[in-house]
Amino acid sequence: MAGSVKGVILDVDGVLVYQGRVMDGAIETIEALRKRELILRFLTNSTLKSRRSCAQKLQRQGFDIDPGEVITASYATAVYLESLQPLSYWLMLDGEGRDEFPDATLDAENPEYLVVGDNRSSFDFEHLNQAVRMLLCGAKLIGMQPEQLDSSMGATELNVGAWVGMLERASGVPATYVGKPNRYVFDLTLQSMDLRPNDVLMVGDRPSTDVTGAQATAIRSVLLRTGEYDKGEMSGIPPPDFVVDSIQEIVDIIDALGGQMILF
Ligand SMILES: [Mg+2]
Repeated sequence: MAGSVKGVILDVDGVLVYQGRVMDGAIETIEALRKRELILRFLTNSTLKSRRSCAQKLQRQGFDIDPGEVITASYATAVYLESLQPLSYWLMLDGEGRDEFPDATLDAENPEYLVVGDNRSSFDFEHLNQAVRMLLCGAKLIGMQPEQLDSSMGATELNVGAWVGMLERASGVPATYVGKPNRYVFDLTLQSMDLRPNDVLMVGDRPSTDVTGAQATAIRSVLLRTGEYDKGEMSGIPPPDFVVDSIQEIVDIIDALGGQMILF
């Protein structure tokens, strides 16, 4: 496969960490990529975390990662929302992810946009009814990411896409989704790296989000059979460029493709 590598986009859950522990060799792999002066981005469908809190958590786990290198689905949604110049919006989201959103135009009555992330403390009858009424009154629906289930924190949980899908079905209002596998977040990530798709490798554990999204953006993909890898997701999508069982193997792939210079 032709084309050298100037940058790497890495998924976080299932690639660097999973269910509270660091994946074998992940810290050393990031160090090896930095020695090659590659531009790195950490692209996660987490909505609860801000860029800062995500980086801080990874730093506490031993990774050398800067908040400016992290793209969370909540951050990407905030950038997307800003581009729409909304008159008002209502945010359903918990955690530090809220820090990414300015609150000057919050409207709990009749917002122009309803923006839904992981709002686990308020996904109840009262708040979901409030949300569906907003949609029936004309609010447009933005889902921070489309995944239905998540096991990254331990036991399987409903994920953002499950709640947004319910609101879509009940109201008849289709959602616009921002996070992986949607092209928007991959384009945003590439822009922040100032690289072209052909210069970049995407490393992820989920065919349906990491690989599919990379393919839609013409980014080469490495599927890591760790974390939430599910063989069943492979059917119906073109195969990734590389399939490996350990994150450490991506260093060899990059060296074989002609990654940037090794400093020492
Ligand atoms: Mg993952």
